[in-house]
Amino acid sequence: MIVILKPNTPKNEVDSLIDKITGYGVQVNPVFGQDLIILGLVGDTSKIDPTQIEANHNVEKVMHVAEPFKKANKMFHPEPTIVDVNGTRVGGKKLALMAGPCSVESEAQIIEVAKAVKASGANFLRGGAFKPRTSPYAFQGLKYKGLELLKEAREATGLPIVTEIMSPFDIDTFVRDVDVIQVGARNMQNFDLLRLLGQTRKPILLKRGLSATIEEWLMSAEYIMASGNEQIILCERGIRTFETYTRNTLDLSSIVAVKQLSHLPIVVDPSHATGKWWMVEPLARAAIAVGADGLIIEVHNDPAHALCDGNQSIKPNVFDDLVGQIKQIASVVGREV
Ligand code: PEP
Ligand code: MN
Repeated sequence: MIVILKPNTPKNEVDSLIDKITGYGVQVNPVFGQDLIILGLVGDTSKIDPTQIEANHNVEKVMHVAEPFKKANKMFHPEPTIVDVNGTRVGGKKLALMAGPCSVESEAQIIEVAKAVKASGANFLRGGAFKPRTSPYAFQGLKYKGLELLKEAREATGLPIVTEIMSPFDIDTFVRDVDVIQVGARNMQNFDLLRLLGQTRKPILLKRGLSATIEEWLMSAEYIMASGNEQIILCERGIRTFETYTRNTLDLSSIVAVKQLSHLPIVVDPSHATGKWWMVEPLARAAIAVGADGLIIEVHNDPAHALCDGNQSIKPNVFDDLVGQIKQIASVVGREV
């Protein structure tokens, strides 16, 4: 349920209404927007009689929120959320361009790729240190050593770092060392991990699960938000369908749906969506054209010898070309690079 207040309601009257509603045993989430004040009610609202609230002279109207996600719902927060990562904003006019290798492999590799993508216009460095691999015998990432190398690359380029967390045991380390904590597709419904990340104030990149519906994905965002962390960037990375030609199927309609349903920013990962490096450019263009707030792209200096996901990794010169194309699309859709 949301309660829309008249724009000039005095603060003390807003507070006393919040106290009254809290008395019904629900949590109240106030949002003071430019034109409206909205009270979002979270919890069991079944015992609240909307006419009693509407009787208050400051109340414009009371609306029922049909969706199960509340804090992530656009009705609770009509203005888009901008996630501020130490001054680099995701969700505003400027697009977020996150680029880097699937996995951090060596100091030389991560520094070379970080410098190259920065020169092309990336504003975040991605790189996996802890890798969720289908086979236990495949390269599992450099782990803590990988985090150290990412920090070195950040030092060398100034780019904030985005990297995946796999275990709740590593939360303190990630909060200390990382700028954006990535929750991978396989952990999208690891609810204990989500709850604990909700207790931090770190920006979270929440990837869509392999077979997750849009509603399930937004409910995972809700888990993080329900624990108090509202700094979430959603990431569409393709879903499982009957098609096997591509690694996954990029669900471009999810971007449009998320923009309709939620205020959270959304970026697109065309690398994992397709599994093919030569499909990355056209789908990156499409993602920006339909309204994504940015991209996360795998870039490797030597894809043929990459320890993970070489087939879907583009070379730095291809990324450079891609940024040029994105600039053109961005200007058509009112965004900038
Ligand atoms: C990755 O970003 O390298 C990754 C493993 O992605 P996903 O969780 O989307 O498969
Ligand atoms: Mn990868």
